[in-house]
Amino acid sequence: MSKSKELFSEAKKYIPGGVNSPARAFKAVENDPLFIEQGKGAFIYDVDGKKYIDYVGSWGPMILGHNHPAVVEALQQQLMKGSSFGAPTKLETILAEMVVEGVSSVDKVRMVNSGTEATMSALRLARGYTGRTKIIKMEGCYHGHGDSLLVEAGSGITTLGIAGSAGVPAKMAEETIVVPYNDISALEEVFKEYSQDVAAVILEPVTGNMGVVAPKNGYLESLREITKKYGTLLIFDEVMTGFRLAYGGAQELYQVEPDLTTFGKIIGGGLPVGAYGGKREIMNYIAPEGPVYQAGTLSGNPLAMTAGISTLKLLKEEGVYNTLEEKGKLLEAGIQENIRKVDIPVVFSRIGSMFTLFFNGSDVTDYQSAKGSNTKAFSIYFNKMLEEGIYLPPSQFEANFISLTHSKDEIEATVEANYKALLEVKE
Ligand code: PLP
Repeated sequence: MSKSKELFSEAKKYIPGGVNSPARAFKAVENDPLFIEQGKGAFIYDVDGKKYIDYVGSWGPMILGHNHPAVVEALQQQLMKGSSFGAPTKLETILAEMVVEGVSSVDKVRMVNSGTEATMSALRLARGYTGRTKIIKMEGCYHGHGDSLLVEAGSGITTLGIAGSAGVPAKMAEETIVVPYNDISALEEVFKEYSQDVAAVILEPVTGNMGVVAPKNGYLESLREITKKYGTLLIFDEVMTGFRLAYGGAQELYQVEPDLTTFGKIIGGGLPVGAYGGKREIMNYIAPEGPVYQAGTLSGNPLAMTAGISTLKLLKEEGVYNTLEEKGKLLEAGIQENIRKVDIPVVFSRIGSMFTLFFNGSDVTDYQSAKGSNTKAFSIYFNKMLEEGIYLPPSQFEANFISLTHSKDEIEATVEANYKALLEVKE
């Protein structure tokens, strides 16, 4: 028995399902999770000593690759000074200023500890600010595990084939209206009925949690117009796309400014951080300045701020996002060529350094089309890729991430493995 399997059976004795987040279990691909010993650059190493090219990147944060020397060094120095004080440090202001400077719609930002906390708090703020209760979310968008948001969510919810979650009160779910992603007329219909009741529309501007799906031309612009017309706040959940698709996130790429933005993943540089920010007038509603309460013992944690600051400093350097785009293009060209050669119904969807290979004969533009993908084929593909030393998210409905440390060699090795895995699916 492999060490990973041994550790997994031990973990299952003490941890529900043996994992601390369901997306990590390999259930959908009929396998057991690997236990990881260490990471370096584009690689992770499991406890059995096998090396993998990693496209999970801790589900998004590791854009610099694992264990970046500058981040490690900064963390070591901070650790010598202490790991948590529960009192302000200048590190919080430095990271907040970097976010405000980098993201044009953000005047002020509040640090929290996860993406879930960021979206939950942003919704409370939107409700407090507008005095309205309903929210609109898009089918297949995942915003963490807050009650209001666990309705028709993607990610692990789709992977495990459950509609929502037990334990979410019906009254809570009733306040959430779900419309298809990329469908403006469905949204307009909802606004006709609830014009004065909707506090916020929240979405992933580019989705990652049903797999990578781009907004249709003009979709984000129309969302901006409609929400403005009805006095509803527009929230971009950029937990995944923030500092990933561009330094200023999807809103920079598509030139559409939301009222509030949520962050996580990359701004914590691999440590637990989330944040939400937006227009000054709205952010001033948060305690202690305003009436919307939100707090955290470890919020703005010095180690987490340090990892975030050193990560963003490197991402600010000239040419970083062009480099990521070049890497994405190279991988895409190789995989598209494989798809043609093997002649198999697969759609390769990529924006910058995020991508998904949908085992699907038709274009994927929303949750329904994503769900039409062949998960059995994905499972075969995933397991063959793993055998070939390529570590992918263990679900069809997730985004893969390229880091700055994925070199031409790693990308070529991935394309080679992809060819073999596609052939195996076809058999
Ligand atoms: N929002 C988006 C878009 C996400 O992708 C995620 C996590 O994958 C979250 C929110 C929740 O973040 P966390 O897992 O840090 O709570």
